[in-house]
Amino acid sequence: MKRREFFSTMLATTAAAAAGTLLPGCPAPRGLPGEEHPLQEDLLSTPSEKGSAGYHPHLVLPGAMTSYILRVTNTTAGTCEVSLACPDPLPDGWEVVLGAAHIQALEPGACREVLLKIKPEPGLPRGSAITVSVTAQTDSGTTDRAEVAAEVTDRPKIIFLSIDSLHPDYLKLNRLGTGPGTPGDRLMPNLHRVLEAGTFYPNHEVHIITATDMNHFNFLAGTMTGTGGVPLVGGSLFGFDPQGKPVMRYAPLDLNFYGPDRRRISTLFNAAKNHNPHAWNAFASGKNWVPDMMRAPEQQIDLYLNGEDVPAYLEKMEPATPQGFSLIRRLLRAALFGILPRRGHELGNPADSTEPQDPRQGNLLARFMGCLPNHFPPDRWVMDASLKAIANEDPDVFYILLAAVDDAGHAFGSAFDLEEWDDRGSKDPADHVSRYDPQASRQGILNVVREADRQLGRLLEALEARGTLDSTLLIVESDHSMVTYHHDPLDMRDYLGRNCRFSSEKDYFFGTGGSVGAVYLRREDPDVLQAVEAALETWRVKNPLSGEAECPVYVFNREEMRSGRNPRDPEVSMLPREYYSEYFIEHRQPGEQMWPHLLVLGKPHYEFKVQNFGLGNLGLRKTRLRLPERGWMTGGHGSFETRSALLVLRGPRIPRGVAREEKVYCSDVAPSLYRLMGWPVPDSVDGKPLPGIGVDETTA
Ligand SMILES: [Zn+2]
Ligand SMILES: [Zn+2]
Repeated sequence: MKRREFFSTMLATTAAAAAGTLLPGCPAPRGLPGEEHPLQEDLLSTPSEKGSAGYHPHLVLPGAMTSYILRVTNTTAGTCEVSLACPDPLPDGWEVVLGAAHIQALEPGACREVLLKIKPEPGLPRGSAITVSVTAQTDSGTTDRAEVAAEVTDRPKIIFLSIDSLHPDYLKLNRLGTGPGTPGDRLMPNLHRVLEAGTFYPNHEVHIITATDMNHFNFLAGTMTGTGGVPLVGGSLFGFDPQGKPVMRYAPLDLNFYGPDRRRISTLFNAAKNHNPHAWNAFASGKNWVPDMMRAPEQQIDLYLNGEDVPAYLEKMEPATPQGFSLIRRLLRAALFGILPRRGHELGNPADSTEPQDPRQGNLLARFMGCLPNHFPPDRWVMDASLKAIANEDPDVFYILLAAVDDAGHAFGSAFDLEEWDDRGSKDPADHVSRYDPQASRQGILNVVREADRQLGRLLEALEARGTLDSTLLIVESDHSMVTYHHDPLDMRDYLGRNCRFSSEKDYFFGTGGSVGAVYLRREDPDVLQAVEAALETWRVKNPLSGEAECPVYVFNREEMRSGRNPRDPEVSMLPREYYSEYFIEHRQPGEQMWPHLLVLGKPHYEFKVQNFGLGNLGLRKTRLRLPERGWMTGGHGSFETRSALLVLRGPRIPRGVAREEKVYCSDVAPSLYRLMGWPVPDSVDGKPLPGIGVDETTA
């Protein structure tokens, strides 16, 4: 049997992460000490092989198919020929198909992949199992053997495809993205294919704050942000050190506790394992830190795929995030000469895009992200990795996060709103100008949305080719939407410095970025809280479009977080306790994360300068570099205006071609899936079952 770098790497990384020994900037350890024979040295190998550290029998529905990619590697010095066979007789009711029986002229060091398919006949009962032994033999007599297994299940696979920050109105656009679409002329034809075969919720909203980490978790757990325990993006405040410096921590973060007695929140990953311990869970992400946030063993994710952490069977992105001088050098090269790394993620310029390009696509943030392809991998790479994981390991609950629409939106703005753009008499979106910020690039964002749709199309094709598209529960969603910001950002440091008698160095602490600000007390003093709150509520700026003076922010203290209502701003509201963590507000233990005392959200199209939080909301951990305090983003999210988000369900028992107008939330998805799967609904769930798919009270 094989020793494999992939699993030892995963174990080493998970163990180190769990022990808290992974320092920011240190690459994950590759291989355990004493590991001398990596995967490539095996003649025949496959990730879910019996006897391996991560062995799991694939669960498969009767009548459906599961697969394994066999890797045949020539580890000898000469070219060889390899024969493959499955010698053992098969039990009744199973079919096994080996993709190739002979591999000719395999050069030294070369690796060839062969697909092995296993199919149980319809009617085979749950729990029926098969073990298939495959042998490989070279013409010089070297042999090797791999043993894989499958087990009949009675539950469908669950696949989430999340297009980070996609507004559902992109569905309405034509291919060019500048007018209403019609059948045959759509910006997102593949998403329309899902709509036609599924149930669509056009009035779906996500939870406050309308940002990434909390809402992906909310989809998986059925929680609101307050229960889920993830208050911010990319990191969290854990208190202050003796010198008064804020203690920020980054993934992995053990945050998912709720209620008065610190109960752990369980997710669909846990439910799948509870139902069958052989279930296999995977999370593939264009944002490293989102699955990393969930890297506790209790989350029961078996496979993490991101730009920095990949199994041996996938091609890696550029080297690990450069630090210090090397990062500065790359940034300077990119900023001054536009030189991006070889596989640089030129946001909005997918390789096969033929549209004319807009010079505004080369802005500073786009270049910055282009320098870090391992941190901002393109959607194409994430889908390549995901399809390979499906072919290799057939996950039972698989969360796939395509992040480039969000990356690009921060750099270029938002293009779903036809009213926003002045076409200046040109048909070419590269010439169009946003009413909020002339630096926004309509062309840039549209290219990336089109590319995300192509990747969705590849997933649909792959499932169709496997014959499992109709038996899979597919949830296509987004975690929030995105708006173009006014050009000039808000400066909270400057404003509070001049308008609040307390000091942010001694009395309170704040952090801002995008549409979100949070204020924390350094000492429990109601006078400080009241003074900061009052100062923020009397903030006045001139609206850049109307010229009218207005308060640019909504401010919620903890009491208002609990009720959801802020009497000064009746036009917006949260759900009761939507952003109120009972555990972290009322029962927090010393050393655990702090929940904000004040949540400050921008009014429509206002952006905060990045202050104190760094670019945490782009997932960049604190570096030794002190980033200039500026409005880094052309577009962003976090406040009420970006609550609208995509939600379509497709699969067994889901009505086809239906749109349900009811208002629903992302926390309604997990409770619906629990019911569809026949799994118990955990107490931590806040959402209610979605209407129209046979699981809510009216149809039950
Ligand atoms: Zn997001
Ligand atoms: Zn974002």
